[in-house]
Amino acid sequence: MGSMQGDTARFDVAIVGAGIVGASIAWWLARLQPGLSVALIERDAGFEWASSQRSASSIRQQFSIPVNIEMSRFGLEFLSEAESLLSVDGESPAIGLTLPGYLYLASEAQAAGLRAQNAIQRAQGAAIDLLTPTELSARFPWLHTDDLALGAFGGGCEGWFDGPALHAAMVRSARAQGAQLIKGEATSFTHSGSGKLARVSGVQLNDGRLIECGLAVNAAGAWSRHLVASLGISLPVHARRRTVFVLSCPTPLPDCPLIIDPSGFWFRPEGRQFIFGTTPDPDTDDLPLEPNLIEFDEHTWAALAQRVPAFESVRVERAWAGYYEMNLFDHNALIGTWPGIEGLLIATGFSGHGMQQAPAAGRGIAELILNGRYTTLDLSALSPARLLNGQALMEANVIG
Ligand SMILES: Cc1cc2nc3c(=O)[nH]c(=O)nc-3n(C[C@H](O)[C@H](O)[C@H](O)COP(=O)(O)OP(=O)(O)OC[C@H]3O[C@@H](n4cnc5c(N)ncnc54)[C@H](O)[C@@H]3O)c2cc1C
Repeated sequence: MGSMQGDTARFDVAIVGAGIVGASIAWWLARLQPGLSVALIERDAGFEWASSQRSASSIRQQFSIPVNIEMSRFGLEFLSEAESLLSVDGESPAIGLTLPGYLYLASEAQAAGLRAQNAIQRAQGAAIDLLTPTELSARFPWLHTDDLALGAFGGGCEGWFDGPALHAAMVRSARAQGAQLIKGEATSFTHSGSGKLARVSGVQLNDGRLIECGLAVNAAGAWSRHLVASLGISLPVHARRRTVFVLSCPTPLPDCPLIIDPSGFWFRPEGRQFIFGTTPDPDTDDLPLEPNLIEFDEHTWAALAQRVPAFESVRVERAWAGYYEMNLFDHNALIGTWPGIEGLLIATGFSGHGMQQAPAAGRGIAELILNGRYTTLDLSALSPARLLNGQALMEANVIG
């Protein structure tokens, strides 16, 4: 337990942001070292704006770089056991994990790239099958395949889950294990010294309270850039709005996976309906979190119906929007310490894959805090140091 005296409280670790990433860090810290005092600082009491409540909550193995595949493979392991791992007082959350697969579709020009990625995924132990257009038609008779050269399908190891339920369960379980949720808005990290000698020593809240800590973590998602600006850190993590459309279609599509069209849009079943999204153009920072309905225009509808003829009679039922915390440097998470600043760790920039990577990111940050190094999965490829030495770790498969 942290101690509170007047407007100052003291904790071993203070985490800003109780989205899935911050909550996972708190959960792993409390699990790996019971008795450690952990503060989870959150300004949005109902998580109204958190990306973790506005996600498409899907999990895949089809990434282009090994560390992402490894993180998601661990994510799947965690999700498979989440209902017991996150149970509190004998009550298990319903996470709703289902694994119908992702299906990446490639045109002739994209097929070589899909094959090369498949070799990387298979080398990591991911069971992703390459399917010819004939095999695609046999398996998914409702799919138009004439313009396709190849598909990559991960049935049984990829799918989706109830993200808001996972997030809520992670927060609840982290608290039950001893993490303390502090309602408040962080304005900055306090520090002693400057330049290369700076050491973060606390988190300042906008109501005057100060949370002193041994170590601080920035897990503030799409808002994480602003929080470290006063330390002279320039995080390339930008809030990019993504709209998700809920569609209904009178014709069922048996065994429909999450499909990524060669043109970039994606869709998947959600109960009896479907959800759909695409990459907005232009893609601007900090747009209001209202769905951009014009993203589903006549062209979108025609492209969707071209891929699945039954979607001729598709109807938009509703839509929502959330922020991708997009790392514009290389579309990959930034996980670890910040070179030259003591006492600060960051976990942000997941660029559309943070729900599935949160279990591995949380465990990784907890290991760094408790042991000074990774002891299970080595996440050092995702160190923020790469921003400073200019070595991008580009992820080719960013959806939407
Ligand atoms: C439309 C959409 C679809 C997605 N689809 C997928 C998917 O299919 N699979 C997948 O893995 N990922 C997906 N993602 C990405 C995933 O949802 C995010 O990567 C993940 O939720 C990020 O979690 P987070 O905890 O970092 O951020 P958030 O959930 O946004 O949490 C950050 C928290 O920090 C708080 N905060 C910020 N600043 C402060 C401050 N100054 N003081 C106090 N609190 C603060 C915020 O209130 C917020 O609650 C999707 C995202 C969107 C928007």
